[in-house]
Parts: sequence; structure tokens; C-alpha cells
Amino acid sequence: MKPFTGSFTQQEALDDAVIAAATEILRSGRLHRYNSGPGELSKASELEQAYAAYQGARYCLACASGGYAMAIALRAAGLGQGETVLTNGFTLAPVPGAIAAAGGKALLVEITEDLVIDLEDLDRKAATSGARFLLLSNMRGHLADMERLVAIVTKHDLILIEDCAHTMGAAWNGRKSGSFGLAGCFSTQTYKHLNSGEGGLLTSDDPEFMARAIILSGSYMLYERHGAAPSADVFERIRLETPNMSGRMDNLRAAVLLPQLARLEDSIERWNERYRAVEQVLAGADGVALPGRAAAERYVGSSIQFRLPGISPALASAFVAANKALGVELKWFGAAEPVAFTSNHHSWRYVDPQALPETDRILSSLFDMRLPLTFSVEDCCHIGSIIAHCAAEIGAPA
Ligand SMILES: *Cc1c(COP(=O)(O)O)cnc(C)c1O
Repeated sequence: MKPFTGSFTQQEALDDAVIAAATEILRSGRLHRYNSGPGELSKASELEQAYAAYQGARYCLACASGGYAMAIALRAAGLGQGETVLTNGFTLAPVPGAIAAAGGKALLVEITEDLVIDLEDLDRKAATSGARFLLLSNMRGHLADMERLVAIVTKHDLILIEDCAHTMGAAWNGRKSGSFGLAGCFSTQTYKHLNSGEGGLLTSDDPEFMARAIILSGSYMLYERHGAAPSADVFERIRLETPNMSGRMDNLRAAVLLPQLARLEDSIERWNERYRAVEQVLAGADGVALPGRAAAERYVGSSIQFRLPGISPALASAFVAANKALGVELKWFGAAEPVAFTSNHHSWRYVDPQALPETDRILSSLFDMRLPLTFSVEDCCHIGSIIAHCAAEIGAPA
């Protein structure tokens, strides 16, 4: 087997339009979002308008990170200290971290083999806990049946906030991910769908919620300079009772994001071409199980996940090592110790320990891989065949 030599952590270089936009801001020296001239719309405000339009939301706030957007969303939604927040048992550490930052207690919900929240467990835990909040994590870009989910949210009168770090641009039956509840939270960290190093976007149609979020983000009394914000009278009601928790986005990052947003749809097509290339090879590989994708789901294949059902921990480590030896970097979510970005609920010791037997069973056989746009479609076929080769060598029990 010929090894693969590409880098799994190398995103695409930023193009001349991005460099020109960044240079213009740097030459002006006006990097702070409120450092704008009279009547001038800052880049941060321009980004808020552009992203609100893309998302089809009334309001948008640009902020420091996706994790920050989730934490202030919970606060702006009225989360009380020590209150319970339902969330997926399988997600990235910033999600339980945002709940902790906002003073909440995470109640973890099982996932299914399609890597989405288990709606029956959600229904059960919403009923028994009496929780008011669901921070839904569309982890690795997998969307649950959103119509059924919204029915459960409505039945239990839950406030729904969506973590869309991997579903920027994704949709369910034509409706954008992030628009099913009170708010959507997005990340513009380098490994997500737009790249400003770090950054976050929060969207909502609710005026009072968004006014609170804007003040929380550190707007001081300059909120009228925002690009996609509710009117000043909404702020009048809440501006003095809402704390400033500094986490603004600056104009440099906003300037870098605007040209990328303009070609996001094109990037999505390119990710999905690559995703389908790997998926097609793996679909024909013995012992490999791919998560289901509903016809209603428009996904963004910026990463791919698959399972080797029944694999032992020792063989899972050997499988990761065999792929690594051939240049393919896989993450395994079943590892006892957290590695780099990858951890599971057992290592979130600030959360009360919870039994999630189904999630544990799924994670013990779950592998994950990034698909940066620096890979060609041919690269993706090559990578798929390396994985299939290693799976056959390991001889994972089906
Ligand atoms: C990256 C990520 C986040 C947080 O984004 P940051 O901008 O890095 O804070 C939240 N949820 C998931 C699932 C993520 O992958």
C-alpha cells in the first residue's frame, strides 16, 4: 500500500481577496469593532449583516469563539446558577465547557449509531429532570431528525440552543441548521467552515435575547453600532441589568471572514465531493459501518466518521497506528485518555459522572478523520483505500 503524504491539519491558504481585506484594516489601524468613523459600518457589523442574511436570521452577533457564543447564549436565555442543561453525551469539550462557564449543570443524553442525539433518551431525560434548556450539539455535522426533535422540545417547553460548529451551511428539509430554536452558535476557528483562527457567530430572531447577548459580549453602550441588532428601545429595557463579559470580535477577523463567506457554498460542494469519495470506498469495505444520512439532511462533509463495530480497545489502537504508519490520521473516541482535540465524557471531570452505556458502546468503535480542502478527490480515494486496507488487516469482527 502506497502511503499518503498530505497533512490532515493543513487548511487551504487564504486567497488574495482575504489578504487585501486584511491589509486594508491593518493599514487603517482600526481593529477594534467600535473604532469606526461617523456613519461608517465597521467590518464586524458588515459581517453580522452578511451572516444574518446567509443564515436567514433577523439578528447576528460576531464574537470571540463558538464556545463563547454558546456560553452567552445560555446566559442571555436566562439560565440560572446550577440549572440543568441537556446536551449530547458525544460532543467536543467546549460544549460542556460553555455550560460550566454559564453556571449550568450538564445532563448528558445518549447518542445513536448515526451519531446524533437519541430522541427517546432526550424525551425521557427532559421529563424526569424538568430541565428548561437543551444545548443541542450537531457534533461532526450530523443532524438528528429535526422535526421530531422540535416536537420533543415543544412538548417539554425546552429552550433550544444549537451548537452548529460543524453544521454551518447544513440544513434539514431545506431549513438551515441553527434556525430550529432560540439561537444558533457557529465557530470560525481554523478547522471549521470559515477560518479566522478563532471567532464565533450567534444568530437568533428573538430581539430581547439578542440585545442581552450583545451587551454580554461587551458592547458597552455602543450597541447601536451593531450590524444586525434589534432596535435601541429593546436595549433600553435590559442594558443596565446585563453584565459585560468582554468577548467581542475585531475588525481584522471580520474582514478576513467576509470574502470566505461569499464562497462558502462553493467550499461546501468541494467538501462533499471529498466526503463522498471516502464514503464510497468505505461503503465497500468489510467490517466498516458508516453513519446513516437521511435524505432530508444537507450536510457539510468537512470530516468523516465510521465505526468498526465490536473492535476491542487493543485492536482499535492498533488500527489507528496502522493507518498512521501509512500517513492517515484518525482520531478514536474510545480512548481512555483524551488526545489533542479528542476527549469523551469520562474525562470531563467537572461534570457529574453519568452512565451512558449506549454512547460508550458506540464511541468504543468510532473513528474520525478531517477532510481539509487541501486534499484532492484522488487523495480522498487513496485515503479511503488505506483505511479499508487497515480494516481488512485488523480483521475487525463484524
Ligand atoms: C469547535 C467546536 C466548538 C467550539 O468552537 P470554538 O470556536 O473553538 O470555541 C463547539 N462545538 C463543537 C462540536 C466544536 O467542534
